[in-house]
Amino acid sequence: MNPAASTKETREFQTETKQLLDLMIHSIYTNREIFLRELISNASDAIDKLRFESLTNHELLEGHSDFAILLLPDEDDKTLTISDNGMGMTYDEVVENLGTIAKSGTRSFLEKLKDSGAASANDLIGQFGVGFYSAFMVAKKVTVITRAPGQPSGVRWESTGDGSYTIEAFDKEARGTTIILTLHDEHCSADRPAENFLNRYTLQDLVKKYSDYIRYPIKMNFIDQEQPRGADGKVLEDAPAAAAVEVRTLNSMTPLWIRNKSEIPQEEYNQLYKNLFHDWEDPLEVLHSKVEGAVEYTAVLFIPAHAPFDFYQRESGSGIRLYSRNVFIMDNCKDLLPDYLRFVRGLVDSPDFSLNISRELLQHSSQLQKVGKNLEKSVLKTLENMLAKERTKYETFWQEYGRAIKSGVYSDFQSRDKLQNLLLFPSSHSPEGLTTLADYASRMREGQTVIYYAAGKDRSSAERLPQMELLQEKGIEVLYLLDRVDEFALEALQEYQGKKFQSISRCDLKLDGVDAPETRQESEKLAKENEPLLKAVQEQLAGKIAEVKISGRLKSSPVCLVSGDTGISLSMEQILSEIDKTPFKARRILELNPHHKVFQVLKRLQEENPSAEAFKDYCELLYGQALLMEGLTPEDPVGFAGKIAALMAEAGKKE
Ligand code: ADP
Repeated sequence: MNPAASTKETREFQTETKQLLDLMIHSIYTNREIFLRELISNASDAIDKLRFESLTNHELLEGHSDFAILLLPDEDDKTLTISDNGMGMTYDEVVENLGTIAKSGTRSFLEKLKDSGAASANDLIGQFGVGFYSAFMVAKKVTVITRAPGQPSGVRWESTGDGSYTIEAFDKEARGTTIILTLHDEHCSADRPAENFLNRYTLQDLVKKYSDYIRYPIKMNFIDQEQPRGADGKVLEDAPAAAAVEVRTLNSMTPLWIRNKSEIPQEEYNQLYKNLFHDWEDPLEVLHSKVEGAVEYTAVLFIPAHAPFDFYQRESGSGIRLYSRNVFIMDNCKDLLPDYLRFVRGLVDSPDFSLNISRELLQHSSQLQKVGKNLEKSVLKTLENMLAKERTKYETFWQEYGRAIKSGVYSDFQSRDKLQNLLLFPSSHSPEGLTTLADYASRMREGQTVIYYAAGKDRSSAERLPQMELLQEKGIEVLYLLDRVDEFALEALQEYQGKKFQSISRCDLKLDGVDAPETRQESEKLAKENEPLLKAVQEQLAGKIAEVKISGRLKSSPVCLVSGDTGISLSMEQILSEIDKTPFKARRILELNPHHKVFQVLKRLQEENPSAEAFKDYCELLYGQALLMEGLTPEDPVGFAGKIAALMAEAGKKE
């Protein structure tokens, strides 16, 4: 035990905890009753833990295995006590669990909260397991008395939520945790029974509503004033009433997942989800499957309505709980589902999961892998159905988790084919909507051999790329890749239904099937005629670009920058260089529009004197423009701006 434990100590909460407590106490959240669900689910987790550990260490039970959670409202003291005989906590664990916020992401949660203002607090709280601290929404003082099995003494922790807590050693005979909430007056008032957490019927209703499936009995004493009866069975009106105490179990204890799917209302699934994963919002989707045969299991999986805000920064961490015949085995089983489905939460109960092997070994067991494969299939099936039948809901899903699916396409070779039909992209076909690859393919023009895409930082910059003009004119649809992972995903996929993906910012647009052969011949002819000019421009821009070409695609723009047909593209180069110094460079090709006025000026300047400053400046300016249109910065922005200013002054003089 900690040496400090023998005396009472006052300690400060960690800064983040203080902020969180402050939020809990001042939260405008109206649904304060959920504190009960949170504390009961903590109690149930603690019993789960003990039950599992005791399989290999029987002594932990200290001779008692009649697990239960007790509720004790006390009108005189205005306290509600929630007591369990689970795993309890040691002194150090109390400090760690109830004084700090160990969970990663909470700090950033609080930062995000500051940025977004208090109005969204309620939405945000739900994304975090702030379970225990929710007690401060209803209590002015919280006292925790706990003892872990095998510990000679217990610990008493107390706080009024004002920034500090006290902690001291405390005798506690029974193993487990007792939490005493000294309630705010508004939660003890007989006038408002729904918010009176001392009212036994209110408590009973809340347990039914939120915690019915909890596998341990949640018990409470009901005291009835009973009028004694005479030998004839008649009530003796004048005799003093006697108090009859009846201990009732408030919950049915039937795990929801063993019941028949058809008998379970959506609301119960929602409650189970909120109970298990401390979310305040209903899930977007629920999957309940029972499988019998070579592998046997029941699974209830959820897709949360919102991804945690730090979802895409996290390494992994799918939240699947494992049970074997209703006995909890482990939390957050990582190897069950592939990484790209790490947003799925839920539970799997299977008699095939052995309770007696370690969690590490279990994670690698072949049974688990088989179950995992099945579950992956059913999640994907559900998503495909959602896409086909509930498009709006699917788009909500996509908004939250689309990037995870796309990351599956580029990082999980085996899953590519399975995921390609789930992809959605904005496209030039519809101004607002998203399209699937299948829909794009069905709209392809006759003779079109590839699927075109344009990468850009947002829709309007992709739409207005000079390279878009020709495709727009020919009525060819272009997918817009606006998320940084998009192009990597399509490059990994390579093709869809035998049609290759083609960036419109690549050198060869592969328009043969749609374009008349004359267009190409015309470009070739112009290239020949202008060979000296192209050579001179290339010399001017040596080291910056690999090639200068006559463009067959430009309409209103004098110039554009494209990348070679192979290797990485300009947009990919940009993304890679933001992540790290990359040795990969796109092959840069400058295309000149032979029908633009600027082309004629350039040609004249070159013919007059290719070594004069005027020609050099024109080359630099054209290259700078091409970079800007690609969302890139000219290498020497100040020099670039200076050249424009000089040109403007010159133009002004003539007028
Ligand atoms: P969460 O339950 O999401 O982990 P909480 O803030 O509710 O977060 O609880 C923090 C930790 O305190 C728990 O993870 C658990 O280790 C411990 N704890 C809470 N309640 C109990 C309890 N009744 N018995 C034992 N440990 C508990």
